[in-house]
Amino acid sequence: MITHQNPKKMKNKFDIIIVGAGMAGATVAAYLGKQGKTIALVDRDFDYKDRIVAELLQPGAVKMLETLGLKHCLEGFDAQPVYGYGLIKGEEMFSISYNDDGSKDKSGVGVNSGHFLQNLRKEALSYQNVQQIKGEVKRINEDESGKIEGVTYYDNELELEFNLEADLTIISDGFYSRFRQDFSNPEKEITSHFIGIVLKNCDLPFPNHGHVLMTSDTPSVCYPISSSEVRILVDFPSSTPPRRGPQIYNYLKDNILPFLPAKMKPSFEAAMEEGKFKIMANHYMPAKPLIRKGAVLLGDALNMRHPLTGGGLTAIFADIYLLSNHLLSLPNFKNADLVSTKVKVYYKERHHANANVNILANALYGVMSNQLLKEAVYEYLKKGGKNAQMPLKLLAGIERDHKTLIRYFFGVAAFGSTNLMVDKVTNVAKASKILYDAFNIIRPLIKNELTLTSLFEEQPLKKYLEQPIQLITT
Ligand SMILES: Cc1cc2nc3c(=O)[nH]c(=O)nc-3n(C[C@H](O)[C@H](O)[C@H](O)COP(=O)(O)OP(=O)(O)OC[C@H]3O[C@@H](n4cnc5c(N)ncnc54)[C@H](O)[C@@H]3O)c2cc1C
Repeated sequence: MITHQNPKKMKNKFDIIIVGAGMAGATVAAYLGKQGKTIALVDRDFDYKDRIVAELLQPGAVKMLETLGLKHCLEGFDAQPVYGYGLIKGEEMFSISYNDDGSKDKSGVGVNSGHFLQNLRKEALSYQNVQQIKGEVKRINEDESGKIEGVTYYDNELELEFNLEADLTIISDGFYSRFRQDFSNPEKEITSHFIGIVLKNCDLPFPNHGHVLMTSDTPSVCYPISSSEVRILVDFPSSTPPRRGPQIYNYLKDNILPFLPAKMKPSFEAAMEEGKFKIMANHYMPAKPLIRKGAVLLGDALNMRHPLTGGGLTAIFADIYLLSNHLLSLPNFKNADLVSTKVKVYYKERHHANANVNILANALYGVMSNQLLKEAVYEYLKKGGKNAQMPLKLLAGIERDHKTLIRYFFGVAAFGSTNLMVDKVTNVAKASKILYDAFNIIRPLIKNELTLTSLFEEQPLKKYLEQPIQLITT
């Protein structure tokens, strides 16, 4: 292994090394940095990037950001409040609010994700004990006993490799993680692709709302990301990406444009002509971590779900709260066995805390891609009241109770099935199919995300918010 003395006279032993200063890495650095931990925050690129991911924070994510003391990172770049959802079937539509009392207490936020990330990084790096290191992590290093002792990174400018050491290495290198296979048993699948387009001065049917477009075969979503821009993520239901050029253009022209509400069409057509499309794969990867002393996985490196519901940050911020506070209950991170015990608790509790977010994301994609179930969910939510409020609370990451999720999921299927039978008794085959399809959509997700005991255990997040973990801060 090549080891160089650092020419910048930088210290190279830290409490924590964070591999990747993306949403997860920058946020955990900001939170633990504030508590006085010495941190090496490593990323190959700290510049602003125009990204189509992580642009909608659900109320659950906003609340958790506030709990972490980082809500001010949403300020200063024209972020937009989001008060609920609009469901759109061509010109037929209705909206549901996150707040059943007409207030604006619980709201999400639509952001320019690049600006938000730069604010999180700036916050982290405002602490003297957090060191920015620009470099590509090449290796995670272990000692003779197998304990992770740090990383080797490559400095592009100096064209040299350097070693860093720490008591704990947090691996948050995102959805193309090159290190996750050594720290988990990842089973990754691509559910579909999103074509990301910015609509300028778009007249949304429900201003300051997220919108689910339900008329095409599979669902697309849009939401405001600044006062003059709306992000639309158009679903391309294939595990291979659409080809740039005529294939994307024709897909949008034939499958999306005709079904948009009339008031959205001019900005959509203008964006089609401009042709600035970004394409991203939508992954599903349940968390299957392995315990390795001295290291822990965080963010998309550990766990991914379909982005239809914008649940990524809801899960990540909850993870950061759980992981950090368990770690901060230790006086320091020198005892690798004790740190491992805390990491184990984090993996167990975060699984429990995020199961709903993960199940709902992929279940809703399945439901919205199924003609009968899609119709059922539209009619069910349209009834309003509790029918609409509770599913939205689940989506918002406010309600994390698993039994509630399962009850409402099958409630929708039963509602659709009954409606079909009431409509025509000869619909019996369709009425059975809807139940069968619903079961098949949720069964593998439940298997990955829930255990029988987790159905009856208290939600860890709820418990800690009421009775915080005792922290020892430096
Ligand atoms: C199309 C799409 C839309 C989405 N929309 C939403 C949404 O609206 N709301 C929401 O909550 N979630 C959304 N998500 C999910 C969300 O974007 C992710 O969960 C989140 O960005 C993951 O954060 P992360 O820090 O794990 O990864 P990233 O934010 O991708 O960060 C990883 C970082 O690691 C760095 N890195 C990687 N490898 C190395 C290396 N070897 N050395 C050094 N640095 C390295 C990268 O440069 C990067 O900065 C969306 C996802 C997709 C695919």
